[in-house]
Amino acid sequence: MTKNSFTTLAEEVIARCRKLATLSEDAVGTRRTFLSPPMHDCHHEVSSRMQALGMNVSVDAVGNLRGFYPGASPGAPRILMGSHLDTVPNAGAFDGILGVVLAVAQVESLNGLKLPFAIEVVGFSEEEGVRFGVPFIGSRALVGRVDEELLGRKDENGISVQKAIQTFGLNPNEISRAALGDDILGYIEFHIEQGPMLESLGRPLGVVEAIVGQNRLEFIFSGQANHAGTTPMNLRHDALAAAAEWIVTVENLARSTPGIVATVGFVEAKPGATNVIAGEARATLDIRHASDHARTETLDELIRQAEAIAARRGLTVKWRMLLSQNAVLMDSFLTEQIEHAIKKTGCEPHRMASGAGHDAMILAEKIPAAMIFLRTPGGISHDPAESVHLDDVAKALECGHHLLAQLASSQEFLGRTCRA
Ligand SMILES: [Zn+2]
Repeated sequence: MTKNSFTTLAEEVIARCRKLATLSEDAVGTRRTFLSPPMHDCHHEVSSRMQALGMNVSVDAVGNLRGFYPGASPGAPRILMGSHLDTVPNAGAFDGILGVVLAVAQVESLNGLKLPFAIEVVGFSEEEGVRFGVPFIGSRALVGRVDEELLGRKDENGISVQKAIQTFGLNPNEISRAALGDDILGYIEFHIEQGPMLESLGRPLGVVEAIVGQNRLEFIFSGQANHAGTTPMNLRHDALAAAAEWIVTVENLARSTPGIVATVGFVEAKPGATNVIAGEARATLDIRHASDHARTETLDELIRQAEAIAARRGLTVKWRMLLSQNAVLMDSFLTEQIEHAIKKTGCEPHRMASGAGHDAMILAEKIPAAMIFLRTPGGISHDPAESVHLDDVAKALECGHHLLAQLASSQEFLGRTCRA
């Protein structure tokens, strides 16, 4: 493939993503949630492209679209490539879907050449967690983590995951068959960065070293509700003012601690009236870092600060953990190979942590996984304005092409035994 032909293929990739964005539950804007009717059309569109390339297409029992491109010999091991097909409401055209369309285009760029490994392209059915409030249903099925509790979860219309699977024409009793076999060499995912780092550095592609760990917590500050007119300032136990002081502390500590991002994205005051001092204030915390040690150390300090602020103001504070997820390292061998491949395209790779969760994080529990980020213009994502540069998509295709060639000639890679 020449540089020009990567550009031509990149134009097609972008056009296909834009077309897929029209397959939506909403008349205006893109919304394609787990096993919603437009997901059928999406499968049809992507699978017809796969079939044209001689790939064997199937849909597993949680609705992951899987296209198999055989290796040079029968029984050859396989690599997985892909990303997710579902979207958030009012989505852009590239989050997730680009990684699937790019993987199919990667197979296309082989021009029928068979490698020492097969390539299975996976379009995950669910990553965003929009419909059932639980993310990664698609990739969880591959690592055997779809359990009864998950199947029983209901969407806002009272439809369970189990029922949604049946309605889509799939059999929930066959979910175990979606699990990874023991012939997998690794998983590679292309995804837009969804942030401003690569753009600020002027680099088209980044290689993900780790997906950050995160905690989500809820804090409840309890004080004393009282009359806003008759209670002097020095006799108040204002829960909202305490929460506000703590929120600024969160921001200050995060700003002064390298790599930490911490967010209070929700506050609620009770009773919530203009002329009443708040007796209770509820606030959430989302805190993330690539190092589990740095994250837990900062979190412990923020909890101490909440308690100190409450005590000084004559209030109490309680907190509870809603989510605790450790950081996930990407496979070091694949990460180095991706760096080499990026350099071969003439670009300087940038090693970075992903602040958002991705399917690669789930698969990394069982198999070597790696991610390549594409620069996101303006850092804008989860919005119709989300975009990619044509040249960056061409670089991604070229990088993937080099990567496949490197892996195909690496005895170290081909000799790997799978952890699945
Ligand atoms: Zn995504």
